[in-house]
Amino acid sequence: MAKAKEPYDFYSPEAEEGRIRAERDKARKLRKTRWWQQKTAQGICWYCGQKVGYANLTMDHIIPLARGGHSTKDNLVPCCKECNTKKKSSLPVEWEEYMQKQDAQTRESF
Ligand SMILES: [Zn+2]
Repeated sequence: MAKAKEPYDFYSPEAEEGRIRAERDKARKLRKTRWWQQKTAQGICWYCGQKVGYANLTMDHIIPLARGGHSTKDNLVPCCKECNTKKKSSLPVEWEEYMQKQDAQTRESF
């Protein structure tokens, strides 16, 4: 028996997986562009502001793909491994607290 299509079928896990795969692909392509080269040329982490060198930067989505973020230039930033690890293991709220602390530190050092 055929099941009636529910309106929320659009948000199925399969569709979401497909969307994330497509966004990851976009990010991979952006990583090869001049735009990204310029963004990482100085080797500075967007979050903590530390100079870690180009080789130690990863591409990070400010709003994670799993939370509805996109692979657009305003959502992609260079991120050091330390921040990347912290961000992945934190809840969004915890990460925000960490960022605020980083901000305060940056202000103090000026
Ligand atoms: Zn960092």
